[in-house]
Amino acid sequence: MTSAERSDFIRQQALKLGFDACGFAKAAPVRATDSAYFQQWLEQGHQGDMAYLQNHFDKRMDPTLLVDGCQSVVVVALNYYPPTPSRHVPKVARFAYGKDYHDFIREKLRNLLKTLRTEDPSVKGRAFCDSAPILERYWAQEAGLGWIGKNTLLIRPGAGSYFFLGMLLMNQPLVYDSPLPNRCGNCHRCREACPTGALTREGLRARNCLSYLTIEKKGAFSTEEIDLMKQGEWVFGCDQCQEACPWNRFSAAQPDPWFTPISVAFEWDRDNVAAMTDTVFAERFADTCLARTKREGMLRNVCAVGKKNAANP
Ligand code: SF4
Ligand code: SF4
Repeated sequence: MTSAERSDFIRQQALKLGFDACGFAKAAPVRATDSAYFQQWLEQGHQGDMAYLQNHFDKRMDPTLLVDGCQSVVVVALNYYPPTPSRHVPKVARFAYGKDYHDFIREKLRNLLKTLRTEDPSVKGRAFCDSAPILERYWAQEAGLGWIGKNTLLIRPGAGSYFFLGMLLMNQPLVYDSPLPNRCGNCHRCREACPTGALTREGLRARNCLSYLTIEKKGAFSTEEIDLMKQGEWVFGCDQCQEACPWNRFSAAQPDPWFTPISVAFEWDRDNVAAMTDTVFAERFADTCLARTKREGMLRNVCAVGKKNAANP
């Protein structure tokens, strides 16, 4: 296959498998400015309890160190916007309504690679979905899928930001896409909408972000963290900066039954979570992203949202 034939084949297969977009970037070290920004972000401790972000810095900054002979980065985007967003408070972020997306995306990427290798046995590659030290949004931007907005998320023109990303690193060349211009312009609605001031001109202060606090933060909340939790209405993730983004008026519903809401069918209040055993919680939400916090983490979250300066459970 020529690079052009291979590129066309991959894109066609990706769309056939249900991905909403597919783009290609040449594998190379990330730009020095991005690398320096990330280094500084880490040094300032914005990663909080996400210590894993400090690991494998060299590989994170250069995908060619991650997969032998890597020449190309294939990035796919999958819409997850639920047809009927929940009005129930406190809330779970939209990405966590249905079944956990990781297996869904990895399986499709493996199928894509398998089909491609049948056509072109010279191809070798690896599929990732949040499973490798790699700057997904950076590469999605490089692959022409959209731009990184002031809310730090990838925004697809005419489609918004409610997308999961998956990546395929492969050993053969492709015809590469060009990055799109940033179209945030003078807008800063996401910064204004953020209930905790986590979005600044300098970027995301992850330790103040409700997505971090509700999902990534380990152990009990400090008094300051409880006060941050009270600024929002979220017990798992937070969509407030996405809800404010004008580009999300283009969001279209994801109809795949994999994403049929499970977690929103539950009323997330202290009494309900406290009444569950760890085992019941684990069984009920086993297939969802919520399994990550376990019942203990969810109880911490619902307690923090529910009462000002309440003691942790
Ligand atoms: S997810 Fe919520 S808390 Fe985090 S930056 Fe966006 S609006 Fe702010
Ligand atoms: S709300 Fe405005 S500034 Fe923020 S990401 Fe969307 S377009 Fe960009």
